[in-house]
Amino acid sequence: MDSQKILEAAADYFDPLLGRKLGEAGVELRLAGSKLQVRLGFPASGHRQALAAALREHLRTTAADVDVVVDWAVAPQAVQKGLQPLPGVKNILAVASGKGGVGKSTVAVNLALALAAEGARAGILDADVYGPSQPIMLGTRQRPSSPDRKHLHPVRAHGLQAMSLGFLIESEAQPAVWRGPMATQALTQMLNDTLWEDLDYLVIDLPPGTGDIQLSLAQRVPVAGSLIVTTPQDIALLDARKGLEMFRKVGIPVLGIVENMSTHVCSRCGHEEAIFGAGGGEKLAREAGTELLGQIPLDIRIREQADGGHPTVSAEPDSPLARRYREIARKAAARLAYGEPAGAFPTIEIVDD
Ligand code: ADP
Repeated sequence: MDSQKILEAAADYFDPLLGRKLGEAGVELRLAGSKLQVRLGFPASGHRQALAAALREHLRTTAADVDVVVDWAVAPQAVQKGLQPLPGVKNILAVASGKGGVGKSTVAVNLALALAAEGARAGILDADVYGPSQPIMLGTRQRPSSPDRKHLHPVRAHGLQAMSLGFLIESEAQPAVWRGPMATQALTQMLNDTLWEDLDYLVIDLPPGTGDIQLSLAQRVPVAGSLIVTTPQDIALLDARKGLEMFRKVGIPVLGIVENMSTHVCSRCGHEEAIFGAGGGEKLAREAGTELLGQIPLDIRIREQADGGHPTVSAEPDSPLARRYREIARKAAARLAYGEPAGAFPTIEIVDD
């Protein structure tokens, strides 16, 4: 067997998830005897088998009996200039929205669970000071323990490490009176004082909007990549665009857009309808030069499961809805590891003449 030829042929395989050839993305390929080892930079429980099978097929004409094994290792990615990475956390992913009520927190928790389902060590930090909803969605109000009266052990729920102001405050009404600088200080402290244990990804559920708190968090928290959640209405899209610009201004890569409540699925008959209009997220992604990572329908099960303390990816891990969250998680993690395919999402500038 000509090893060089096999490696070249493998590098020439176009992977649909990466949107380019393995060699172009820089995926690690190693040949040991008749075993081709493919090491991805993102967790891929839901992708490894399909990739191995497709690659075996692709290599058939070059070498008939190559055994393909796919695994992964998550590496820490760069953060904003001047900031140090957070101990115990390889990559922070920020989930933001231009306005409240679009489903940002629901997407954030399901994203963290989906990353875990894909094989990563994942955590969630609830930074939504005005309405910390993660304790409800995770179904726990456990108080974090402290080994030294300064640091906090994260709360464990559904296989995630979690921290929220909701675990620390006595009354649910308390956070509403917080002023900007206090809120930012409390959040950075909560982030830094939590003893995160060897996380591949920490998902941060940011407060909604693009005001001072969000900007100062974006400047102070060492974030590797961000996701913007929006609904398809024009007004939400306009606000989402502001979120995107805020991240770019502070040097945080935008991994893409998640369109939530894309269509309504009738719980009686299953009929699916684009009640808020179709194509909004796609258009925003195209205009802003980023990617639409996925679309989540408005489905009563998502709300019931989140409100009941068992978010969809945990409640029904193999359901079509959970699969959508997992695809979004995989794509976001793949973009974080390898960047976007060259020239895939050119920004379209609209110029008045
Ligand atoms: P945000 O964080 O943007 O304020 P939330 O995640 O708290 O929004 O969601 C607002 C409400 O909408 C919650 O009751 C949540 O359960 C519900 N929700 C979010 N996404 C969906 C969805 N795709 N289908 C049905 N209900 C949803």
